[in-house]
Amino acid sequence: MFESEREPELVPEPEIVCVDCGGRCFLLTPPREDGVWYPGDIVAYRCADCLDRWDLVLPDAQDERGD
Ligand SMILES: [Zn+2]
Repeated sequence: MFESEREPELVPEPEIVCVDCGGRCFLLTPPREDGVWYPGDIVAYRCADCLDRWDLVLPDAQDERGD
């Protein structure tokens, strides 16, 4: 069955900017065994400066509409 169900490559940023201190937050969450990420996956980051933890939800890639 060929529904339009193929997943685009979805990869979380390896590093983000800390919302609190502007420092660098590094990805804590390892990928699945097959290295695939899905929309709705929760990835955690740890700030190297203030040690805050940030949990982000991977966005749904089908979110592009409105043309
Ligand atoms: Zn920080």
